[in-house]
Amino acid sequence: MTATELRHDWTLQEARELFELPFNDLLFRAQSVHREHFDPNEVQVSTLLSIKTGACPEDCKYCPQSGHYNTGLEKEKLLEIEKVVAEAQAAKQKGASRFCMGAAWRSPSKKDMPYVLDMVKQVKSLGLETCMTLGMLKEEQAVELAEAGLDYYNHNLDTSEKYYSHIITTRTYQDRLDTLDNVRKAGMKVCCGGIMGMGEDEDDRVGLLVQLANLPHHPESVPVNMLVKVKGTPMENVEDLDPFEFVRIIAVARIMMPASHVRLSAGRENMNEQMQALCFLAGANSIFYGEKLLTTANPEADADMLLFKRLGIRPEQREQCASEEQEEEAIAEAVEHEATRHMFYDATRESA
Ligand code: SF4
Repeated sequence: MTATELRHDWTLQEARELFELPFNDLLFRAQSVHREHFDPNEVQVSTLLSIKTGACPEDCKYCPQSGHYNTGLEKEKLLEIEKVVAEAQAAKQKGASRFCMGAAWRSPSKKDMPYVLDMVKQVKSLGLETCMTLGMLKEEQAVELAEAGLDYYNHNLDTSEKYYSHIITTRTYQDRLDTLDNVRKAGMKVCCGGIMGMGEDEDDRVGLLVQLANLPHHPESVPVNMLVKVKGTPMENVEDLDPFEFVRIIAVARIMMPASHVRLSAGRENMNEQMQALCFLAGANSIFYGEKLLTTANPEADADMLLFKRLGIRPEQREQCASEEQEEEAIAEAVEHEATRHMFYDATRESA
């Protein structure tokens, strides 16, 4: 079978037409594209740790970590490197292949960069892929992170350019695109997606996916978050998104970015198992695993592994990472034991 060609010239009209397909046709098409590029029964598993929580100067209206809103979130200073490494080790034992570290910053300061670089080196030396989300990056900061061995940088566009000013006013859409460009130029992989259910309309959802798919390179990871309404944020009472609309977004993302990992991210704890299974069918092939997804609760690792087992899904492994026995051992262990909790912070979705 010839793999679907990767395109970077999607029009809004084409994307709208995909959204409007009958649900079954859309899912069939998405699953067919998915099988051309991926093992349909493998899902990549990442673990996310908040390395610095709260008091963020940005005003993202969905985010409990923003210093602009009073959400009762406990602030935390930058975590010590040893704690981060211990968490990374625990995550690896539970089957994670990638360890993501998030800090609630507008951008990393000069003072914090050496710690962050050391964290990358140490986590990487455990044999894990590394990902960070630290806010905006200048060109030289991106180069330093890449040289330290950072594999991925997460920086979400959040929504369409048109709707963006309803969500954030402290930095522009272009600022975000510039950071993505710096990350690419430094040779790192890009993790970039958005949040659905923030009061945007379908055209905004289409607009975001077109923007992502028409980047010069598709992001290797595309997190699709469902808004978690946090009390105290301006989004606490926004209307719920129809779950089928969310599944459609996953399917359209899969069709437009066929070789990217499409990640079910924040909001998964509000999805029942059937909906998560539909998302996997629509082409989602990455999840965050672990008890917390920064400030929002994440379904517990054990529940994830039990669901994988029921669906016959295997966690995707890095080639050099584990043998099949190690993988099975990791699943068995995760099923039997409770996830370690004490160091996971109650912080928010992929920030920045
Ligand atoms: S999403 Fe990131 S940048 Fe925005 S307020 Fe939250 S932590 Fe800060």
